[in-house]
Amino acid sequence: MPAELAVLGGTPSFDEPLHIGRPNVPDERRTMARIQQALDRRWLTAFGPLVKQFERDIAAAAGVKHCVAMCNASVALQVLIRAAGLRGEVVLPSFTFIATAHTLQWEGVTPVFCDIDEKTGNLDPAHARRLITERTTGIMGVHLWGHPAPTEDLAALADEHGLRLFYDSAHAIGSSRYGRPVGSFGDAEVFSFHATKFINSFEGGAVVTDDEELAERVRAIHNYGRGEGSVVSSLGTNAKMTEVAAAMGITSLENMSHLIDVNRGHHNRYAEGLADVPGVVLREPLPENTINHQYVVVEVDERAAGVGRDALAAALTADNVLVRTHFDPGCHRTEPYVRAPRRHAPLPLPRTEALGSRVVMLPTGNAVGSAEVDRVCALIREIVDHGEAVTAAVAAAGN
Ligand SMILES: *Cc1c(COP(=O)(O)O)cnc(C)c1O
Repeated sequence: MPAELAVLGGTPSFDEPLHIGRPNVPDERRTMARIQQALDRRWLTAFGPLVKQFERDIAAAAGVKHCVAMCNASVALQVLIRAAGLRGEVVLPSFTFIATAHTLQWEGVTPVFCDIDEKTGNLDPAHARRLITERTTGIMGVHLWGHPAPTEDLAALADEHGLRLFYDSAHAIGSSRYGRPVGSFGDAEVFSFHATKFINSFEGGAVVTDDEELAERVRAIHNYGRGEGSVVSSLGTNAKMTEVAAAMGITSLENMSHLIDVNRGHHNRYAEGLADVPGVVLREPLPENTINHQYVVVEVDERAAGVGRDALAAALTADNVLVRTHFDPGCHRTEPYVRAPRRHAPLPLPRTEALGSRVVMLPTGNAVGSAEVDRVCALIREIVDHGEAVTAAVAAAGN
């Protein structure tokens, strides 16, 4: 059996690569019917009926009054940052996708990176407090891997210092905290509907908020400063979502509770399959949070597993299980921020570094079957059983 591990010279146990982040494709017939309607109407973009419906559906899912759908989440973040008038510095976790930082920097706001609570991977409010200066105008939380951030403590901190509070919720549609849906926290939140995200519209994003004035400013800016009218009221750009994207998004969202069930099933199967594998621990939500299970994340304790995270990831990859190790390195170790550590990371971020070095994301979603989950678990067990040989083989391959 050990010789069968690809990393030890065997053949890969998956003939075809098993990806993480293969798109969840919703009901094709309903998606195509909606695209056909858009073509028949010859209404392809700009406030069409499909985008309107998608905005209503997303607002309902988030439990808020306003939603402005856009071409992607990065541009939606930029539009929101501008509409909210953020300036100076904004505190955000380093443990996030680079877009959370880049969108601030792109808008001329300095991202200041904060450490995390290792248990959740989310921004630590006590550490955030230490980074607030007279230049700070806001906090950008992230619901990492779909786990809602500590929203009560962050709201209290923002209130105390008169800061705006926003969330990059790219991972977290369908998650909730104390029964309240993600999308309804802070001054506004931003979803991503990129192809590899939980709900997808090929590419897409949205700002959701209960703040009517903010929603109006966002709506204006996302269409050349004109909103849906013809009078230009401000500087603006073109960030609109197309009807084809909304057709996919509506169908994808209709499928959300089913998708959560499928992913929860995979999560539970991984939990069972890995329960007695030493040093490989599946990350679980806090009791007050429900998550969409978009990501299955395991933490590798090298001492207990006898194999490190990097060797485990390399061995899985050799076996055609294309895992990911996001978010390692953290944003503060990435260009351009790494060049100005005093500006962007004035305090050390030991928990960001530690968690980043231990995590692996495993395949899930509706492109993955239960049998494949079982085989990935068996493979991980096999790798851990032969930890020493695997570590040596990976080291040799690296030289
Ligand atoms: C994917 C992602 C984004 C960017 O979303 P796009 O729609 O691809 O622009 C932003 N933040 C986080 C945390 C993400 O995972």
